[in-house]
Order: sequence, then C-alpha cells, then structure tokens
Amino acid sequence: MTTLKPVFHSVPNVPPRQIALLRNATLADGRRVDVVLDGSVVAAVADAGTPASGVAGPEAVLDLDGYLLLTAPAEPHAHLDKALSFDLVRPPLGDLPSAIEAWVAYAQTMSVDSIVERARTQALAMLAQGITAIRSHVDVHPDNPTRSAEALVRVREELAGLVDLELVALCSSLTGDDGLEEALDLGLDLVGGAPHLAEDPYADLHRLLAIAERRGLGVDLHTDESLDGPVTLDEYARTVRDWPRDREYSAGHCCRLGTLDAERRDAIVADVKAADLGIISLPITNLYLQGWQHEVSTPRGLTALRALLDAGVRVAAGADNVRDPFNPVGRSDALETASLLMTVAHLTPEEAYHLVSDGARSVMGLPVAGPVPGARAELLAVRAVNLLDAIANAPADRIVIHAGRLVAQTRVERFVAAPAALASPAALAAPATTADPVVQAAPTA
Ligand SMILES: [Zn+2]
Repeated sequence: MTTLKPVFHSVPNVPPRQIALLRNATLADGRRVDVVLDGSVVAAVADAGTPASGVAGPEAVLDLDGYLLLTAPAEPHAHLDKALSFDLVRPPLGDLPSAIEAWVAYAQTMSVDSIVERARTQALAMLAQGITAIRSHVDVHPDNPTRSAEALVRVREELAGLVDLELVALCSSLTGDDGLEEALDLGLDLVGGAPHLAEDPYADLHRLLAIAERRGLGVDLHTDESLDGPVTLDEYARTVRDWPRDREYSAGHCCRLGTLDAERRDAIVADVKAADLGIISLPITNLYLQGWQHEVSTPRGLTALRALLDAGVRVAAGADNVRDPFNPVGRSDALETASLLMTVAHLTPEEAYHLVSDGARSVMGLPVAGPVPGARAELLAVRAVNLLDAIANAPADRIVIHAGRLVAQTRVERFVAAPAALASPAALAAPATTADPVVQAAPTA
C-alpha cells in the first residue's frame, strides 16, 4: 500500500518568516528591481540597488539574483478530497464516467481523517510549487453529504496563514437539497455541482442556482464537461446576468463550447461576457478524460479559449485533478498548466501565465496580487531568465511568499560531468550532490 508520508516527511518544521525586502529580482518585463513589502502588501518597486529605508534585519531580506519574480499562481479548480488517491483506488485508465464509477465505489470507504491527510499533503505540495490560493471542490454525495466538507473545513483551518483555501460544495444531482444545505452549513464558501451529468441538466442547474441565490453565495459549476453532451453554459450565463455582483459566478471545463461551430460558440461567448461569468479551463484533466472514443484525430477536450479571450471574458486555468481516478498524473504545478496552454491552446507565454495567476485570482474573487505597488504580496520567485524559460523548464528552485511571509523554499544543486577538455580538475573532483529537501512553513495548528 502506498503511503503519503514520504513526499514531505523530511520537510523541516519552520514557521513562516516575514519579509521586508526582495533584492535584485527580475520581473517578467525584464526590469531588475528591489521590492519593498509592508506586511502583506507590496509597498514599492524600484530599480535594483535603490536604498530602501526602514528595512529590518537580514532575516527579512531575500536576494533574488538569478530569479524571476511573478505573481504567485492560484489554483482555481482543485479536488483536494480526491487528490493522491490513484494508488489507493487503482482504477482502470479511462474516461469521465469510468473515473466517476471508480471514485464513487472507493469514496464509501473513506474516513474524515484519511481525507484530511491526503488533502493537507496535496495543498502543501501545491504551496511548495508556488500556489498560495486554492479553490477546491468538495464532494457532497447522497450517501454522506458532509464527510468531505468536514475534512476540508478542518484543512482550511489548519492551513490558515499559509494558503488561502476556498471551498465549493460539489453537489451531486442525486443529493437532495437538505444534504447540500447541511454541507454548506459547515462553512463551505460557494455552491457547485455538475448539472450536465444530471438526468435533467436544466432542472439541476436552476435548483443549484436557486439555493445559491437564497443563501447569498457565489457559484462555481462543473459545466458541459463533454465533447457531445448537453450545452448549459448559455442558460447559466443568462440566469445570473443581473444577479448581485458581490459574489463570484464561474463555470469550469466548458469543453462542449470548444466543439461548437463558430456562430453558436460566439453567441454563447457573448452571453458569458454579458454575465461577467468567469471561465475556468482545466487542460491536463480534460486532455486525459476526453476523447477516449475517438481513435483518430482525437479531439483536445478544451474550451474555446481564444474566442473567450478575444471577447474579453475573465478566464482562469488550473489542473483540476491530481493523481486520482480523474487524472493519474500531474505535478501540482501551475507552470505545467501554463506549458499545456501554450502547447494545446496556442496561447502566448504571457496569456498562459496570466490564466494561472492574475486571471485565476480574478475568477476566484481574490484581491490583485503581484510585484506591483499596492498589490497583495503573493509572490513566486523561480530560477529563470524570463517567463518562457520558467514555463519551459519549470525549475524546481523556487521561493514562495504568501501575505508577505516566506512560506516555502526549494533549492536544487545539480552536477553535470563536462567533456574532459572543458572540465577543470577541481570540478571533476567535486562530488555529485542531490537535491536539498524542500523547506516549507508548517501549519501551526
Ligand atoms: Zn472538477
């Protein structure tokens, strides 16, 4: 039986450290700067070497020479209660219905504690990669509507101060309103579901929206996650168009939109834009789950990203599932998602990184962040010369700052033998080294 402990068993238990100054960082636009932090906010960004006044001791200063400084990624669509279960479930490789079948059978056997352990491990793995905000869907199953909610609310409390966690009640169409209300009562933040899987998608869509409206909650629905199934996105957009804007409305997947002819697609995109509905694309999971029935010219299972971006729709991207029946692989890394967006959706590096960082934060209703005066100090420094280098290589060397505090750092030392003509005797005598362990802030709870 696979255990989860080895992933992080050697992580030193270090408290988060307040940072006041980041020196010699390279920004995505090529500028070399010093960044002054004031608590959880970026106070100033100046040319590197500009004297900063009032900076505290050396423990509050990080030298980012050789690092690219970015807005920290946010994961707009995770399933922390399912993550890292692949080796426990041992499902067959396959499409969405087969993954659901394998998961539902396994889910009966889970305890709250076992969910907490996997969810916490996964959230910390994401934090180590630089993700400082996560929106996770939480199963609300008819047989036990509150088990996952209980677990994820506990994880949210444990990780407070390290990562911002938003929880969405993922309500099955078979779960009654009472079950959903019970799960929401535990403290979940948004109403979710998957109306496209219901026997009557429109009835389920309106049932979920009515509960959200009554409770004054935002909505994030798994929407039209198929290549040939129902289209509900337009109905969703038109329904919430005039609803209060003090909460977020978003739709994940929307693969079906990517299969429609241009005229119909553009009409729906106009509805989405008019409603200011956020769209969340999930390339790695939908590349895995969709297309199994297409032996040749296998379709990509992605939404209409270019049309959405051209229309000015707020778009985010994430990984969705990680190492569970819905996606056996994945590295918990937004740079992996960004790389896929360039390869399969033909986005530019800037567009791709926007979708996993600023775009994701916007769809999640989070304040603006990044190396900009006045923004939240949610920052990822990665050892790279520019954005394309970071996306292409996804270097492991990273420094992660959440709310102005250092919460994770990974250092890798690499040794490569050189041709004899180039190698110095000293270099050849140096021993090979292995990666240092990840250094990461631990939850205090
Ligand atoms: Zn999902």
